[in-house]
Amino acid sequence: MLAKILPLTRLLDDWLPRHCALCEARIFDPAGLGLCPGCLNALPGRNVQRCRHCARRLHTTGPTTEPSAVGVRPLCQICEALEAREAHEPLEASSDLDSIHAACDYAPPLDRWITAMKYGGDPALAAPLGALLIPQGIALAPQVDRIIAIPPSSRRLVERGFDHTAHLAAPLARALGLRLQPRLQPKLLARIRHTPEQAGLDQQARSRNLQGAFVAQPNIAGQSVLLIDDVMTTGSTLREAACALRKQGARTIIALVVARAHSIR
Ligand SMILES: [Zn+2]
Ligand SMILES: [Zn+2]
Repeated sequence: MLAKILPLTRLLDDWLPRHCALCEARIFDPAGLGLCPGCLNALPGRNVQRCRHCARRLHTTGPTTEPSAVGVRPLCQICEALEAREAHEPLEASSDLDSIHAACDYAPPLDRWITAMKYGGDPALAAPLGALLIPQGIALAPQVDRIIAIPPSSRRLVERGFDHTAHLAAPLARALGLRLQPRLQPKLLARIRHTPEQAGLDQQARSRNLQGAFVAQPNIAGQSVLLIDDVMTTGSTLREAACALRKQGARTIIALVVARAHSIR
């Protein structure tokens, strides 16, 4: 009996009116975005054009009519300069990430929301944040075989009480009909070393902090991966995870984050 009722309640849950997570207005929200259209459009850095290498917001063109476009996107001035330098003298440690995408900027009210989700131990706050990834995720889907959420260390998992990046990735995985990596070991990408929180560290310390923190399984060889994380600041976490995946032969590695921070937090 319960088995019959559960899908029905889930169906009703999808269609019943809810309240906007930010302004509490009643909303009809079949997509599970959790926000009213006004609050959704007012999120910082939503629907702006971003650098394809680093997801910094490009200020030259203003809002784009095609926020999820993933064709050849322009580079920011910093990445353009780096690319020109690399063409002359290849850098030893260039990134294994093929491109980086961000749904929003890490700014109010999204920063408080992400902090509350991460440190407040409330998985329910993750679903609407994860839903922000869906438009870009759908546009990137033709290039992707697998979605992998940046895994926490087992110590962090115990501290937080839930795997917040897996919760962020779940709405997109559901929308694309892709399975997230199984909960049981061996995970395709695992964090094998506990590392101190990145917040509060400078760029070099962030990089050092994460060296060798991830390990990937050989069966990722030849697959294209969409890596999901909550916030990108310097990109150290994503680069280190991408490096582990590339070592095992992953083909294309694309990162998609909820929020791009523009300075060290
Ligand atoms: Zn609202
Ligand atoms: Zn850039």
